[in-house]
Amino acid sequence: MKPIKSKPAAKLTPSAPREKRLRGQPLYPGIGFGPLHEATEAALVIPIQPCAKSEIPKELARLDDAIIRSRHQLQKLKSRLTALPKDSQAEIAPLLDVHLHMLGSSRLLRGIKARIQSGEQSPEAAVQTEAEAQAGLILTQAGDDKAGRLRRADEVREVARRIIRNLTRQPFRSFAALPQGSILAAKDLRPAEAALIQPSHFAGIVTAEGGLDGHTAVMLRALGIPAVLGVSGLLDKTTPGAFTIIDGDKGEIILNATKASLNAARKQLSAQTRARRALTRLQHLPAQTRCGTQIELQANLELPFELKMIAESGARGIGLLRSEFMFMNREAVPDEETQTRMYHDIVEAMDGDPVTIRLLDWGSDKDVEALSRFLPEASEPNPALGLRGIRLLLRHKKLLDTQLAAIMRAAAAGPVRIMVPMVSVARELTETREAMRRVWRRLKQRKNTILPEKMPPLGIMVETPAAALAAPLLAKHSDFFAIGTNDLTMYTLAADRSMPSDVKLYDPLEPAVLRLIHLTASFAGTAGLPVSICGELASHPAATPLLLGLGIRHLSMHVNAVPRVKQAVRACHLQACEQLANEALAAPDAETVHQILTKAHDA
Ligand code: PEP
Ligand code: MG
Repeated sequence: MKPIKSKPAAKLTPSAPREKRLRGQPLYPGIGFGPLHEATEAALVIPIQPCAKSEIPKELARLDDAIIRSRHQLQKLKSRLTALPKDSQAEIAPLLDVHLHMLGSSRLLRGIKARIQSGEQSPEAAVQTEAEAQAGLILTQAGDDKAGRLRRADEVREVARRIIRNLTRQPFRSFAALPQGSILAAKDLRPAEAALIQPSHFAGIVTAEGGLDGHTAVMLRALGIPAVLGVSGLLDKTTPGAFTIIDGDKGEIILNATKASLNAARKQLSAQTRARRALTRLQHLPAQTRCGTQIELQANLELPFELKMIAESGARGIGLLRSEFMFMNREAVPDEETQTRMYHDIVEAMDGDPVTIRLLDWGSDKDVEALSRFLPEASEPNPALGLRGIRLLLRHKKLLDTQLAAIMRAAAAGPVRIMVPMVSVARELTETREAMRRVWRRLKQRKNTILPEKMPPLGIMVETPAAALAAPLLAKHSDFFAIGTNDLTMYTLAADRSMPSDVKLYDPLEPAVLRLIHLTASFAGTAGLPVSICGELASHPAATPLLLGLGIRHLSMHVNAVPRVKQAVRACHLQACEQLANEALAAPDAETVHQILTKAHDA
């Protein structure tokens, strides 16, 4: 028998950590790579002992001191904003103002002081309990705007954290201390913290929590570097300094990236840089098909800061101004003068390019605080089918007249069109036209009121199946049509946009929706009316040939989408587009239409 030789012990070499791919929500596009570093924050320690009566004045003075320090920090933050691009400043400054307001004579501070004066709580505990109580109240308020309530509750908590850090002198987390060129990782980031991030210091930003609708997201987007939010498990799966790739287009994070992944990312990055340069060059080229048809590309405007991005995008005018935003974040409804100024500034900034102002579209999920007193008392069982848009506006004639008067006055500064939302029957349109005449007559009689020569044209959003099917009738009272594919899809398929994606029902490419678009475009053609699409579908370059094939020649979309859609228009030939549209109209379902579009794109 051979002697048994013991095997030499296997050499224990530390194996390279395995590459891991994680998914989150894509916030800002682009590719970045570098070591991943977490910005950590020490937990807040909150002393909870009550304070003796004799100590109360001293404790109140300590609170005042912490408030003053907090205000100074926020003022400093505000002054640092000037280093950011103008539109980023416009987004961030109001949020800091909200925090500063809470550190003034606010309900929060009054509540905190009352708790300290009762002698039951230390200032730190008083801040914590009062902020939680107020955040709780905000969260239980009625209304559909859950995201808005969450944001406001977060703001109260954020201000409280700042006061407590200043009371206890516990340090804030520092971003500048992380290595230059790294990818910043955090469990979550607060809006005011996001304002402290120096974009040139980082290759990207990734968080484990947070969604795309929050204020933090708004601020991070403004920084303009690749960002992915809500990557669950991010911080359990990484070691400090792990080499990481961030893909802000796909919303992907590659931890411990291999050489092969890095090479692929580098290639992607240079392709993106080339594509961006090519898109910038498109700005001054016409939106014209290969066969010479001119297509009008316009911008949808939701927030005032987007205004100056319009010219840069290559869009010619505004195809949809969602006037709701003028009524948001205000305690009172803006009066005629205020609205006139707001619309006038926009029309003037467009410098002769047309502006289509949509009358207030509110109700249902569009919750505008200043208007809540106009909403029906009893909650509606089916708000999306209830009083919204023009249905609501016609019940509040003063609101309608004020808005019409302001728009007509603003029309003296340049070409303006008025658009009616959520039309389902002709009566809604004729009543609006009647209101326009009434207001026009009234304005004409007023002294010192500058008006355009003629009343602005009046058109409708085609966003209910009824409006699409009755287009020939509505065309008799209308100067133009704009198809709102977001609502048209929802009402045609009786499927909410927020339905879980696995149900796969809400899809504007569903042949039933395409047939309504086609029908509207043909009716408009016969009646000689211009017809545009201003729903999200207009912003997808893959759908551009299909929409042109369905007879659409005007598209309005978010400014960011204009260059890509223009590129798609310039690659189109109308004859091929019409063939593609016929194929799509005959398709059995949306999935097949997607396949048809992909095949056409790859051909
Ligand atoms: C639409 O419904 O397509 C549309 C543009 O209107 P909104 O998205 O504002 O409802
Ligand atoms: Mg709509």
